[in-house]
Amino acid sequence: MNAPITAGDPTSTSNEPELMVQFRDVSKHFGDLTVLNHLDLDVRTGEKVAIIGPSGSGKSTLLRALMTLEDIDEGVIMVDDEPLTHMPDTNGELVRANARHLRRVRGKVGMVFQSFNLFPHMSTRQNVMEAPVQVLGLSKKEARERAEELLAMVGLDDKLDHYPSQLSGGQQQRVAIARALAMRPKVMLFDEVTSALDPELCGEVLNVIRRLGEAHSLTMLMVTHQMGFAREFADRVCFFNEGRIHEQGTPDELFGNPQETRTQEFLSAVT
Ligand code: ADP
Ligand code: MG
Repeated sequence: MNAPITAGDPTSTSNEPELMVQFRDVSKHFGDLTVLNHLDLDVRTGEKVAIIGPSGSGKSTLLRALMTLEDIDEGVIMVDDEPLTHMPDTNGELVRANARHLRRVRGKVGMVFQSFNLFPHMSTRQNVMEAPVQVLGLSKKEARERAEELLAMVGLDDKLDHYPSQLSGGQQQRVAIARALAMRPKVMLFDEVTSALDPELCGEVLNVIRRLGEAHSLTMLMVTHQMGFAREFADRVCFFNEGRIHEQGTPDELFGNPQETRTQEFLSAVT
């Protein structure tokens, strides 16, 4: 049921690296503002990580850096054993990646945003077909089949010819998830994907994410305000504060027995 939707076959993970994502001493500044502060983060292949923390602490910047939507000032980000923005030259020295390398490594990561960012002039099906045709070079027929399969998976097989304006927020967000999955990423990033939705529409989006989580080889990082969902879904919860991971643990550890004062303050304010 879920097998065709993921990047790889969950039963053949032998050639997958143990760590799918690595941040090593990553810093990012906007002018005088330090947004990522010597950040270290390891995410195992297939791990589901929830990132929580105050507004402005750098959570979106972390995900955007992993999507190469933000340059970093210091450090290295590795995805699937390859540096994201650098590549070895003929002497084995790391140099800045060329466009081809970037395109390839970037293709391993998919992202869904708070604002759905669908192409308004394209139908649901066209939205999902676009990048596989343009970027991966799939034939229209292959891309259409992939799109229809994914749209069925997110429960929208009856909306293939609808335009975004004809869909509810929850439906648009499910199209956005299908669109990201159509690139067969190894890592999926979710940035507050339910924050713009009416409460009654959150459930349908979280259900799709919950089902995706059953794909054991898909690595997932999720920034969320939904503490209940984080607790149920994540293997690990990271409390992010001032550009770094302030405290992390299993959901039971972090929510049930936070050690740091700042974590305790945050959790008592939001729960
Ligand atoms: P979070 O997602 O945790 O709320 P962000 O990563 O969006 O935090 O932002 C962290 C900080 O960086 C905030 O203070 C924000 O205002 C600032 N910031 C984000 N993007 C930019 C930008 N393009 N230019 C200047 N400052 C930015
Ligand atoms: Mg954010």
